[in-house]
Amino acid sequence: MYHDVKFLTYKDRKRILITGGAGFVGSHLVDRLMLAGHEVTVADNFFTGRKRNVEHWIGHENFELLHHDIVNPLYIEVDQIYHLASPASPPNYMYNPIKTIKTNTIGTINMLGLAKRVRGRMLLASTSEVYGDPEVHPQVEEYWGHVNPIGPRACYDEGKRVAETMCYAYKKQEKVDVRVARIFNTFGPRMHMNDGRVVSNFILQALQNESITVYGDGTQTRSFQYVSDLVDGLIKLMNSNYSEPVNLGNPEEHTIMDFARIIKDLVGGSSRVEKRKAMQDDPRRRRPDITRAKKYLDWEPKVSLMIGINRTISYFKNELSRSHHSERN
Ligand code: NAD
Ligand code: UDP
Ligand code: UDP
Repeated sequence: MYHDVKFLTYKDRKRILITGGAGFVGSHLVDRLMLAGHEVTVADNFFTGRKRNVEHWIGHENFELLHHDIVNPLYIEVDQIYHLASPASPPNYMYNPIKTIKTNTIGTINMLGLAKRVRGRMLLASTSEVYGDPEVHPQVEEYWGHVNPIGPRACYDEGKRVAETMCYAYKKQEKVDVRVARIFNTFGPRMHMNDGRVVSNFILQALQNESITVYGDGTQTRSFQYVSDLVDGLIKLMNSNYSEPVNLGNPEEHTIMDFARIIKDLVGGSSRVEKRKAMQDDPRRRRPDITRAKKYLDWEPKVSLMIGINRTISYFKNELSRSHHSERN
């Protein structure tokens, strides 16, 4: 991979911080920015991220990996900050809700303080969860959302909502240059095996001939984007002149029951689809309106669900044989 790194002149090369860069999305962003020839620093506390996701860059002169919790201040010199640090899957962010809140509030203040001091630009990885269980469908950025402030998802949803508020307060009062991406469900290689999100759960269950667990009646919907499309969108947004929030997601919507069948068909095997207790406050439907991203970023998703899912199935097959292998040794 090293051989493909571009040579950028001093003028074009940026110093880029990626918080949460050892996680699923962050590590793909690291790869793209490293290959483009930038200097990349990752700050991660390895709560859900893994060194393995970025280990191929360790030792490269343009790369630095900091074991750092962003709830603590960070003083470094950078031009751009992609602020992704936060647990993202419901079981992970509900595991320690206070830590989730601290990461999204104090952590975001620290990154905005850093951006203010260095006069850099900060992109916040926000989420479609700011729309909560939406009454407007598909979701447009003008919609204010429908969030239960004291429910089990609140630590994440409200944490991201106030993180957005902080971005625009720093923009107004301190002239910090901010970008806000509202990311919809994303999947792909390097998702954590046990992170409990629907894509990893269903694929692993199907690969192991276990029951495919549909929470509730399965009529709730989601729209899934492949990780390389998201990375394109994040980079385009960061380098655009547009500072309002932008939805990044794939508008192709499926019920969770359909999605279970799609995965079962693609994987094969003998799994049965089984209904389980519904999750409290589970959003009933979700689909991005991406008019804004098309207009201001000239961005739309390119990878079809089938291609993305097949690549992810291959990834999880490898992960399973890797974990069986290490159990045997
Ligand atoms: P992930 O769990 O794989 O990555 C999150 C990373 O942040 C991990 O490496 C974790 O160790 C790190 N982290 C968590 N708390 C930290 C802290 N206090 N200090 C330093 N590092 C910390 O999740 P992901 O799917 O890659 O999500 C990345 C970002 O994108 C998150 O901010 C998430 O909210 C957002 N997002 C993701 C999705 C999705 O579907 N993947 C959807 C909407 C929003
Ligand atoms: N901060 C940081 N790195 C920096 C600059 C600031 O982590 O390079 C943190 C700092 O600890 C502070 C927060 O960002 O708590 C907010 O910074 P700001 O300048 O807004 O606040 P102040 O320092 O004035 O309280
Ligand atoms: N879900 C499911 N079975 C699982 C995991 C999730 O039916 O094993 C459902 C979940 O209830 C939700 C949807 O799939 O309706 C997406 O869940 P995920 O945790 O991936 O992300 P969310 O969009 O809820 O943050």
